[in-house]
Amino acid sequence: MTDWQELESKYYMQLLTRVPLTIVRGSGVDVWDDQGNQYLDFVGGWASDSLGHSHPALVSAIQEQAATLILTSNQYFTVPQVELAQLLVENSCLDRVFLCNSGAEAVEGAVKLARRFGKKRRNGAGEIITALNSFHGRTLTTVAATGQPHYQEPYAPVPAGFVHVPYNDFEAIKSATNDNTCAVMLEPVQGEGGVIVPDEGYLEEVRSWCDKNGLLLIFDEVQTGIGRLGKLWGYELSGVEPDVLASAKGLGGGVPVGAVLAKEDAAVFDFGDHGSTFGGNPLAAAAGTAVVQTVINENLPEHVANVGEHLTKRLYELDDKYPAVREVRGMGLLQALAFHEEIGGEVMEEALKRSLLLNRVRPDAIRFMPPLIVTEEQIDQAVDVIDEILKAR
Ligand SMILES: *Cc1c(COP(=O)(O)O)cnc(C)c1O
Repeated sequence: MTDWQELESKYYMQLLTRVPLTIVRGSGVDVWDDQGNQYLDFVGGWASDSLGHSHPALVSAIQEQAATLILTSNQYFTVPQVELAQLLVENSCLDRVFLCNSGAEAVEGAVKLARRFGKKRRNGAGEIITALNSFHGRTLTTVAATGQPHYQEPYAPVPAGFVHVPYNDFEAIKSATNDNTCAVMLEPVQGEGGVIVPDEGYLEEVRSWCDKNGLLLIFDEVQTGIGRLGKLWGYELSGVEPDVLASAKGLGGGVPVGAVLAKEDAAVFDFGDHGSTFGGNPLAAAAGTAVVQTVINENLPEHVANVGEHLTKRLYELDDKYPAVREVRGMGLLQALAFHEEIGGEVMEEALKRSLLLNRVRPDAIRFMPPLIVTEEQIDQAVDVIDEILKAR
């Protein structure tokens, strides 16, 4: 049998410590490795597999579109692109869409939009306030926006123009604002940073500060959007509407699709200001439409809210039972279980032995982000595995 992991170490750039598992197939919340073993997937493509693996609606949309038109160029109009844009606008507080291919590209687009806004409306202001412990992507600019120095240091110098302040600290945003500020960019819940939920009232205060000072409020909803938090968009939880929103991950259900959404007033790009060869291509756009349409038609956000509550309840049971557990964070199907010690990796490895895939989001925490279609029974199955692991320690 081919040793794919051996071949990877020979041919692929060595930049990721991978779990020793070669996944060859998926269906719903289950995946199979090359030895035929089955696993329950609570990583879900880092919160991208919204509909689960091989969902028929997504598979047939891709198959049909592939047989019709995969790519022309953005010098022409194409139907799937307009359809996805319309669907996103009609189901959000935003008015215009630009489609791209990833989360980093969506954030990059939002940053460029904020810079154009600063040039046109704020006397050339170009500085963007972002949060410490945030995550905005891996391109140089999104790495600069990310408030975690270890992502930036290997690539310095990174693009200038980002000021980092502690999350959940409104006063820090006030003091960081100056004549050169054009925008504030935040995640409605910090995902990669360990699932950090905003304090009551924080986003509201930031919103009124942006209004008062003519700043754009950008929400990076790459991880929190498309039903993940139990609403179609994360901003709906606080009711705070952003001027600009970046989406990706769950938007394509596993297919690379990203989007920058903006209110009419904030959509200040001029012709020629931004573009993409693949962005909004018919194949990806058809996939995005199938995903969003299914999420809405099947009322998945409500399902996520319900099963998410069940997950929270079950995780609090572990918190009560085991002194090793420090806290439960998050909501919907973006939650973390944090420990007093750095045993996230150990729990993840033990879970793998018991056929459960988990993500160690911090050395001391594991993150749950299964497909949105996960059932209460599958959540019980996963939590029972963690219970068993903690009991055996
Ligand atoms: C994953 C993520 C990104 C980057 O998305 P890519 O598709 O990996 O480029 C940006 N912002 C947030 C909040 C993310 O979770």
